[in-house]
Amino acid sequence: MDSKVLCSDGDPMGAAIYDYHRNGKAGTLVVRSSMFEDDEIPVNDLFRDFSQMPELERIALEEAHGSVLDVGAGSGCHSLALKQMGKDVVAIDISPLSVEVMKERGIDARQVNLYDESFSDRFDTVLMLMNGTGIIGTLDNMPSFFARMRQLLKPGGCVLVDSSDLRYLFEEEDGSLMIDLADDYYGQLDYQMLYEGVEGEPFDWLYVDFDTLAFYAEENGFRAELVAEGDHYDYLARLTVLP
Ligand code: SAH
Repeated sequence: MDSKVLCSDGDPMGAAIYDYHRNGKAGTLVVRSSMFEDDEIPVNDLFRDFSQMPELERIALEEAHGSVLDVGAGSGCHSLALKQMGKDVVAIDISPLSVEVMKERGIDARQVNLYDESFSDRFDTVLMLMNGTGIIGTLDNMPSFFARMRQLLKPGGCVLVDSSDLRYLFEEEDGSLMIDLADDYYGQLDYQMLYEGVEGEPFDWLYVDFDTLAFYAEENGFRAELVAEGDHYDYLARLTVLP
């Protein structure tokens, strides 16, 4: 697995977060994929507080126990909410500008790639939110993802992660699915972020349905539970490490 971090001149999302933190506004943050038309991420959504979060995220924050690792923490919205709940949280992100903002917001934030094994702290809960499975990248990466989670979790610890089942993009009116089984899994996307002339490197981003996630969890020594379902094919899962 790639375990590098970003440079500040190749960190579009961090630049957007940095501008918003500094000026209360930001330019247009664009997400590009070969699967879709360009889409925009509203930067103020990345600064949502507890009351503005989707229910699945609020449930995840309430379920988080003990020492918490917020992976791919962005602006630090979840870390901040956890701190306000009196919970003990460390945030990591590959984005240097996001980490700088999180530090200014009073969060214990480190510029660390999830797969960098020199980061060897252990946690009771690993939190991955806003399509947290995205960071897994592709289904091929599932074994290394679970191996890394086993390193990061204390005995009995768990991962709280959200995702969406993208099947709705392929559903016909009669409910049948238009998916070519010879293709890659339908939730594997390629993404690229752009912000004010800053172009990020393209990366793989995984959306995964709960049954597929549960299959890989069990193959890799974890128990998967469906904690809650959202109203549009989205869900929150708990992955508990087995001894
Ligand atoms: N969790 C935040 C941000 C989600 S965007 C929120 O809900 O608002 C995904 C974040 O993951 C980005 O900030 C990106 O820089 C970070 N990221 C992507 N790959 C990563 C990796 N391998 N290790 C750590 N962070 C990563």
